[in-house]
Amino acid sequence: MNKLPFDKFLEQALKRNKVKQTHPEILVRGIEMVRRCYDEGIYILFTDGLRTDIDQAKLFGQSRKNYWYKGVNYSAPEKPWVTNAEPGTSFHNFGLALDYVLTDATAKPVFWTRNKQWERAAAIAKELGFSWGGDWPAKIRDNPHIEYNGGLSINQIRAGKMPVFKPFASTNKKGELTMDQYNELKKLIEVQATKIKTLEATKADVQSNNAVGASHKEAWDWAIKEGLVRGDGSKNMNPAGVLTREQMVTMLKRYHDKCKQ
Ligand SMILES: [Zn+2]
Repeated sequence: MNKLPFDKFLEQALKRNKVKQTHPEILVRGIEMVRRCYDEGIYILFTDGLRTDIDQAKLFGQSRKNYWYKGVNYSAPEKPWVTNAEPGTSFHNFGLALDYVLTDATAKPVFWTRNKQWERAAAIAKELGFSWGGDWPAKIRDNPHIEYNGGLSINQIRAGKMPVFKPFASTNKKGELTMDQYNELKKLIEVQATKIKTLEATKADVQSNNAVGASHKEAWDWAIKEGLVRGDGSKNMNPAGVLTREQMVTMLKRYHDKCKQ
């Protein structure tokens, strides 16, 4: 027996009967259920997901005589009973339900017997917010069935309401960082932070009007007051800016003109 790695196992678990077309909030919880079970050595796969009204009519017609839906006869008395829900009356019809069954680590056989593992899988589904058909009264009990109703009745769903999906903590270890990756990332962030600090310090030196050294302060204030030094054109006095030859000539002329007055 070849145990499938989780990725491959999951592919098998989701491939049937529009499981992937269920509501995205149902699908992510279904995937989480498969993962949590897998991690406990319990192997489940989904046999049914979204059902259109026609899909539902076909299923309802199984085991029944003379069943018509929208002018079509879906009776199939020779087939086994599947459901008591007519089209539009099942949470499957709204993408809010899944049916599961036990398998093994190869995802090939299916085991329909409700046992400890089956019930543990149901408990995991309930942790994720699902209601379980195995809890229903004997007459309508449906062991494979889980649905996310959020306390709403099927009639409320038919009227357009949707359950509120409560968040859950994913156990997806693949999505988490290893300690090595975390440390590597932390180091990178520290290097970047140092670079940013250096850049900011340089910027402050160039741009700030308050960065005049103590020994130049008196002369700097005098030069501004006398109008010898003016802004650098970017609304900054820029005391640490480099002086060009033309700027020096302008400053000298200003000084000269001032002395002549
Ligand atoms: Zn079901």
